[in-house]
Amino acid sequence: MTTPEKAPKRSIAVLGAGIVGASTALALCAEGHAVTVIDRGEVGAGTSSGNAGGIVEGAVTPTATPDVLRSIPSFIFNRDGAAVLRPSYALQALPWLLRFIAAGRPTRVASIAAALSPLVSRAMASHRALAEMSGALDAIRPVGWLKVYGSQAAFEHTTLQRELMTRHGVSFSLLSAQDIAELEPNLNPDSYTCGLLQPGSGFVDHPRALVEKYFAGARQRGAEFVQENVLELRPNAAGSVAVRSENSTRNFDAAVVATGAWSKRFASQLGDRVSLDTERGYHLSFAPSNGPLLNRPVGFPEKDCVLAPMHDGIAVVSIDELAGLEAPPNYRRIRALAPFVHSVLPGTRSQAIQREWMGYRPSTPDSLPVIGRSPHCDKVFYAFGHGHLGLTMAAITAQLVAGLVAGRTAPFDLAPYRINRF
Ligand SMILES: Cc1cc2nc3c(=O)[nH]c(=O)nc-3n(C[C@H](O)[C@H](O)[C@H](O)COP(=O)(O)OP(=O)(O)OC[C@H]3O[C@@H](n4cnc5c(N)ncnc54)[C@H](O)[C@@H]3O)c2cc1C
Repeated sequence: MTTPEKAPKRSIAVLGAGIVGASTALALCAEGHAVTVIDRGEVGAGTSSGNAGGIVEGAVTPTATPDVLRSIPSFIFNRDGAAVLRPSYALQALPWLLRFIAAGRPTRVASIAAALSPLVSRAMASHRALAEMSGALDAIRPVGWLKVYGSQAAFEHTTLQRELMTRHGVSFSLLSAQDIAELEPNLNPDSYTCGLLQPGSGFVDHPRALVEKYFAGARQRGAEFVQENVLELRPNAAGSVAVRSENSTRNFDAAVVATGAWSKRFASQLGDRVSLDTERGYHLSFAPSNGPLLNRPVGFPEKDCVLAPMHDGIAVVSIDELAGLEAPPNYRRIRALAPFVHSVLPGTRSQAIQREWMGYRPSTPDSLPVIGRSPHCDKVFYAFGHGHLGLTMAAITAQLVAGLVAGRTAPFDLAPYRINRF
C-alpha cells in the first residue's frame, strides 16, 4: 500500500459494514482517504457475524462442479438434504441456476479455480496486514482447515479438489485416523477413517469481533459510521456520487458497494447487470463446555457441515438454501443435524442449543466475487459476491479496491471478477 502522503485524499462512501466493507474501509483509511461507512444495521451484525470462521487458503474448488451438478435433482426432491431449492423460489432462481450449471462444466471449473487461486492464496497474508493495522492479530489463529471422511469411498470424491489444489500450489496433507485422533482427541474415532488438512489456513472464532476490530482500526484513522438504510446510488452532475438514504443525501468523490447479498440493486441503478443471488446458510450453536472440544474447525463433507469451536461454544454450520432475501428462515434441516453432532463430538451431548442463526451468502453462479470499477460510473467500485468465501477473500478484496481507487496496477489480472462477465 502507498503511504497517505502519496495517495490523493478523497471522500469515499463504503456501503455495507460486513467483513468486506469493514476491511475495505480500513484499507482506504490507511491510504489517507476520508471514509464514511453506511449500514442500515450495526457493524458486522449481518452474514459476517455467523460464519464458520475459516480463512481457507486452499479453497480453489468452485461450488459448482460436475459432482455437485449430479446432485441438483436432490436439491429439489430431498427434504432432508443440506442443499435445497425452495419450490416457491424456483422460477426466480432459474437464471442463476442455469449459469451455475454452466459454471460446473469441467473446462469452466478449471478456469474458475485459476481465478480463485490468486485471491485465496493471498487470504492469510492480506488479513494479517489488516489485523496488524487494527490490533487484531490474535483474532486469527493459524490452525489449518481440516476435513474428515467416514470412508475411503467418500474420500475418493476429493479427487478433483486435490488435483486443483496441487495445480495451484496449495499445501495439504492426507491424514490417517491416528493423525486425526492426535489433532482432535475429542472427536469420536468411529466418525472418521481418514482426513485432509490444509495447514496454511486460519480460523477466526469470533467473526463479528474481527469486523468490529477492522472497523475500529478504520475509525482510529478517521472513518465515520452512519446507520442508515441506503436507497439509491447515482452519479451527479458535479462529478461526484450521491448516496441517498431514508434520512439524507450525501455526496462523495467515490463509493464502494459492499452490501453483500443486497448489492444487485445498486449495480442496477447504475446500469450494471449482475447475476447475484443468496445461498442462505445456517448454524446451530451449542452452549460452551468446560474445556475446548475442538482445536480447529472440522468439516464433515459427507454431511455437508462444519463443526467450529467458536468463542461461545461449538457451532454446526451447514445448509445451502436458495430461497431469496425475503422468505423466513426454516431451521428444520439445521436442527436435524443435532444428533449427528452429538455422535461425532460426544462432548456436546450435555450442552444445550443456545442459538439458531441464518445468514445470506452473497453468491454469483461462478463462485467468483465482483471486484472492480463500474463500467457505467468510474467513481463507483464493486466489492461483493464472495459467496462461501467472504471472510477468506475480504482482506485481499480490500487491498485490490484500495489499489483501484489509487490507480495502481493490480498484482494480477482482475478481468475474471468484472461485473459485466455475465
Ligand atoms: C453459514 C455460513 C458459513 C460461512 N462460512 C464461511 C467461512 O468459514 N469462511 C468464509 O470465508 N466465508 C464463510 N461464509 C461466507 C461469508 O460469511 C460471507 O461471504 C461474508 O460474510 C459476506 O460479507 P459481506 O461483507 O459481503 O456481506 P454482509 O456481512 O452481509 O454485509 C453486508 C452489509 O450490507 C448492509 N446493507 C445491505 N443493504 C443495505 C442498504 N440498503 N443500506 C445500508 N446497508 C445495507 C447489511 O446490513 C450488511 O451489514 C459463510 C456464510 C454462511 C452463511
